[in-house]
Amino acid sequence: MDIKDTLSKLSLEEKIALTSGADYWNTKEMGDYGIPSIKMSDGPHGLRCQTKDADIFGINESLPSTCFPTAVTAGATWDKELYRKEGEAIAKEAKEKGVSIILGPGCNIKRNPLGGRSFEYISEDPYLSGKMAAAFIGGVESTGVSACLKHFAVNNQEYKRLNGDSQLDERTLREIYLTPFEIAVKEAKPGTVMCAYNKINGIHASDHKKLLSDILRDEWGFDGTVITDWGAMNDRIEAFRAGCDLNMPGGTAYMEKATADAVRRGELDEKYIDESASRILRLVERCDKLFGEPVDFDAHHALAEKIAEEGAVLLKNEDKILPAVEQDIVLIGYMAKDMRFQGGGSSHINPTKIVSISDAMPGVPCYPVGNYLGEVSDDELDEARKAASSRRVAVVVAGLPENYECEAFDREHLRMPDGHLKLIDAVSEANPNCVVLLLGGGVMEIPWIDKVRAVLYMGLSGQAGGSAAAGLLLGKISPSGKLTESWPISYGDVISNDTFGKKNVEYREGVYVGYRYYDKANISVRFPFGFGLSYSEFEYSDLDINGRNVNFKLSNSGNYRATEVVQLYVRPKNADGYRPLRELRGFERIELDAGESVTVEMKLDDRAFSVWSDGWKISRGAYTVEVASSSRDIRLSGDIEVEGDEFTTQEPLASTWYATLSGKPTREEWEKLVGSPVPEEKAPQKGEFTMDNTCLEMKDKSLIMKIQYKITERIIAKSFGGKRDLTNPAYRMMLTSAVDGPMRTIVQSGGGMVSESVAKGLLDMANGRYLRGIISMLKK
Ligand code: BGC
Repeated sequence: MDIKDTLSKLSLEEKIALTSGADYWNTKEMGDYGIPSIKMSDGPHGLRCQTKDADIFGINESLPSTCFPTAVTAGATWDKELYRKEGEAIAKEAKEKGVSIILGPGCNIKRNPLGGRSFEYISEDPYLSGKMAAAFIGGVESTGVSACLKHFAVNNQEYKRLNGDSQLDERTLREIYLTPFEIAVKEAKPGTVMCAYNKINGIHASDHKKLLSDILRDEWGFDGTVITDWGAMNDRIEAFRAGCDLNMPGGTAYMEKATADAVRRGELDEKYIDESASRILRLVERCDKLFGEPVDFDAHHALAEKIAEEGAVLLKNEDKILPAVEQDIVLIGYMAKDMRFQGGGSSHINPTKIVSISDAMPGVPCYPVGNYLGEVSDDELDEARKAASSRRVAVVVAGLPENYECEAFDREHLRMPDGHLKLIDAVSEANPNCVVLLLGGGVMEIPWIDKVRAVLYMGLSGQAGGSAAAGLLLGKISPSGKLTESWPISYGDVISNDTFGKKNVEYREGVYVGYRYYDKANISVRFPFGFGLSYSEFEYSDLDINGRNVNFKLSNSGNYRATEVVQLYVRPKNADGYRPLRELRGFERIELDAGESVTVEMKLDDRAFSVWSDGWKISRGAYTVEVASSSRDIRLSGDIEVEGDEFTTQEPLASTWYATLSGKPTREEWEKLVGSPVPEEKAPQKGEFTMDNTCLEMKDKSLIMKIQYKITERIIAKSFGGKRDLTNPAYRMMLTSAVDGPMRTIVQSGGGMVSESVAKGLLDMANGRYLRGIISMLKK
């Protein structure tokens, strides 16, 4: 296709129409101009390809595809090559089904462990997130399919995900929240990037010129297409100016007329529309040529199993109770049979098959006590006690039930269900050799840790998770996963626990996220970042630092063939000011036979010593290079001097929380970090409501919105058999999205159910302008 020529034949209206999808998953076909349509599907850990009823919630059917471990588990492998293979495998499944774009990977930072989509993200660390995301994208793009890196940017909670505002200073933005995207874009060149739902410092991601054009395109060299998250488009006109190309989902003509009018009035330069339309044509042209070959689903299942094996983290193994032999084991708990292996929402996959733990260990007795809500009755506890004493090792399978974590809402706490706590108590009292197999998409409070001998954290390990768990318990393979997120002892230790879950999210902790905070503030954690045990042992020796090259010897001094994830941290000698104690700057997986040694070679780049201060500056001075097994298990260290710029902590921060890390940062201190006053959250009043407000936000101040709320609630409950069951994550997700989605999103992604004029009419009425509202609603 000659893009310039095609573009010249399209009218203004047609060009604008081209920049919105045709429906949920397809771009528009314009046959008269030879423009075909291309299809996209979720998502990060498998293909959610829908052919009939479409939805963003993962509720309606999708074609069977391999459900790989979610990013919490795949990330814990720290295995770039394996993650690359996962990307490639998902892309092959996509090609087979005629899908050209995969909506993933997600590389948002796990800022706070309550984040409802934590299971879909890789890490609290930007370097690790970026490197892994780049590997996945590399795999996808190697097939010709395009990856869609999401959610750009600073999208770290589900509460008010469509109109919340992430407020942060430039240094935190660059060093923590943009770095993963920067690494992934520069290294792997994804074909598309998905802009997030939220605002960043007051501007919606879709309208954010600084993010989408100045940084993404001009600084990082991204030459692909920006796609909105589904319903993220705020103001189509601003979004064109910002460089936001494709509005998804399609199916409505949201703000199309207003955009054409703005061009005609000379308020919007047509060049923006031409640029977006040509970027879409380039993408369509590139992807339309794809065709698929038959997929080897068995091989993909085996790959999913390998990722689950590598991503499992052995958190405790007292007296080497693991591995155990099959004849010694009894399995206890509902999840042994009904294993949780994926999360809820748009990433929800219809697996090609499922192997639970009990399936994978058919010779092992299994007592699936309890239910899917995490409840266990007294009789079941008695049964569990008896079962526990019937074998030498009692394995309790427990963790987070489905309704505890899901897209569209955040977790309420870090606790496991009471039933699971009771089960662990009962079993560990009945049998001192109690092992817990932990399932769930993120950090949990585990006050019972001293009562049990071993803990193996499987995360959400995909459709082959059961086989992986069995292989690890029985010692077919040694665990090698390492945590990509610090596990605090309790939620009270999380620095952002008072700022998370608000509409205006004040990122007051700045760069002190995860281990950057715990290590510097010297807070005890349950398990540090980068932690994970093995059935074997590793010795580190002979560190040799030559310029930026770091060499050392790693020996497997234990009795198993095993893999160690070695980590390289850089620590400024003088980290007294506003600067983390240490930061991850390199990692490698090294597999060794028992008794084998190898020289590991790693290299540090300029960025390893850089800070953001009106640009990336190499901070001159003395550094300690640390070779480590986790952020709190430094095995070797050596000093180096680095040439560069003079960098001192910003003067105004000198005597604030940012220098002491004692207590919490105050708003005043945080404004010093930001460098200017930050607008405070203010609930809108009647008369001030806009299309960015939600029914939930307006209903207590407006009768019409109260009615609207009730109607919406009833319609949604109807599709769940009339049940208003908040323990059903699908119901809760749909309800939250419908009643707490901004009016503009309801219009845009409601598939034409609510037209723009009806929504505007309702909004007028909510603002007390009834006559205007009725006139608007009567408009065609
Ligand atoms: C999610 C995206 C997803 C899209 C399409 C949105 O709600 O935030 O991650 O790709 O839906 O399902």
